[in-house]
Amino acid sequence: MAEKPGLYENVTRQVDKAADLMGLDADVREILSMPTNEIVVHFPVKLTDGTVKLFDGYRVQHNNVLGPFKGGLRFHPLVNRDEVRALAAWMTWKTAIANLPYGGAKGGIQFDPKEYSLEDLEKITRRFTFALGDNIGPEYDIPAPDVNTNSQIMAWIMDTYLSMQSPHQRQANFHVVTGKPIESGGSVGRDKATGQGVVYILERWAKDNHFDLSQATYFVQGFGNVGSWASRLMQQHGARLLAVEDATGAIYNPEGINADDLTTYVAADRQLADYQQAEYIDHETFMATKADIFIPAALESQITDITAPLLNVMLVAEGANGPTTPEGDAILFDKGIQLLPDVLCNSGGVIVSYFEWLQNKRSEFWELEEVDGKLHKMIMKAYDRVQKAAVDYDTDWRTAAYIVALARLAKVYRERGIFP
Ligand code: NAD
Repeated sequence: MAEKPGLYENVTRQVDKAADLMGLDADVREILSMPTNEIVVHFPVKLTDGTVKLFDGYRVQHNNVLGPFKGGLRFHPLVNRDEVRALAAWMTWKTAIANLPYGGAKGGIQFDPKEYSLEDLEKITRRFTFALGDNIGPEYDIPAPDVNTNSQIMAWIMDTYLSMQSPHQRQANFHVVTGKPIESGGSVGRDKATGQGVVYILERWAKDNHFDLSQATYFVQGFGNVGSWASRLMQQHGARLLAVEDATGAIYNPEGINADDLTTYVAADRQLADYQQAEYIDHETFMATKADIFIPAALESQITDITAPLLNVMLVAEGANGPTTPEGDAILFDKGIQLLPDVLCNSGGVIVSYFEWLQNKRSEFWELEEVDGKLHKMIMKAYDRVQKAAVDYDTDWRTAAYIVALARLAKVYRERGIFP
């Protein structure tokens, strides 16, 4: 996957289409066209082998008119300002569509965590948190897991952040990050939340379209947090997983790949591409898999002018952020492939992050049924809003989702005005 330049431009094009259609106020469009803050830190880390290395870390805070900045942290060699900007903007739209009291942000460090020991990973994470300092905070900007970051990384961030507070303040700051391990203040259901949200959305889409999910075939790109959970939860419906691709390659089995078994296999630090209960296929063959549903759950810009013509599905459910370029979108539309957009489809993660944040603020621990029930309710309401906008404006679901977000933001800007 080569670096995709101009990702922020892709977001801007998507937003402009919605803004034109709804006749968005020009002032609001101007404000939302750039992020509020962009923090770049270059921080040194003394590694376990004694060498010192300088890392580039980012935090882009796109907008906070609806509430504190909120969004994940990514550890990946391709992390750069343009990508983080785009991902931060998508968070602004996503939280607005879900009706959360949050704005949008994103961040990360440009490096490959797989090249470092766990001990060094902890040092890098802690030193990055220190470098960010007061640019994050439980009522200001709340990071969460994203690509190559997990609950352990969140625990280190929280611990470092708390260590920087006065002893009296520490207990009141647990909610500086979400996606923490349960014992360290995390929420049950957060781990699976994004995949669960994707599947709740798919259940609803199936109901609305008189489609039987138990007979469905699907394939998934990315088998990390989002991809593996979405795969397993779809499998619980009886749907058949035909192909999976991750950074090591792609595999296919027309009889179905057991998602639980594959999860156990990958969790044991084995390469997905070596999985013996399926055959190895190349990327083009993978993208051309004939199935009902494709769930991209890896990185952005995967469905493009090159790959969209290959797709042979009736529906794309975007688990990843920004997996489809504007050119890819146009081709899907021409081919009559339906699309459930990222800002709706993968919002389960940030919704349950919000529940975790609330639990921390109230010193509560909710049961899984409560978390899942509330997630279902919130994501269905978001689905309803997008569906209604698609009908009202006679437009595609991505544009409709942006219209919902922009309308909410525009209303708040109208009410609050622009200071001074
Ligand atoms: P992850 O690190 O757990 O998994 C990423 C997966 O993508 C891995 O299986 C990896 O091998 C695969 N991948 C990487 N490069 C690839 C390539 N070149 N081709 C095919 N597969 C490749 O990350 P995640 O948390 O599951 O995030 C995946 C996507 O979902 C990202 O776009 C992220 O922004 C988005 N997302 C995540 C969450 C969340 O809660 N974790 C929430 C909303 C959206």
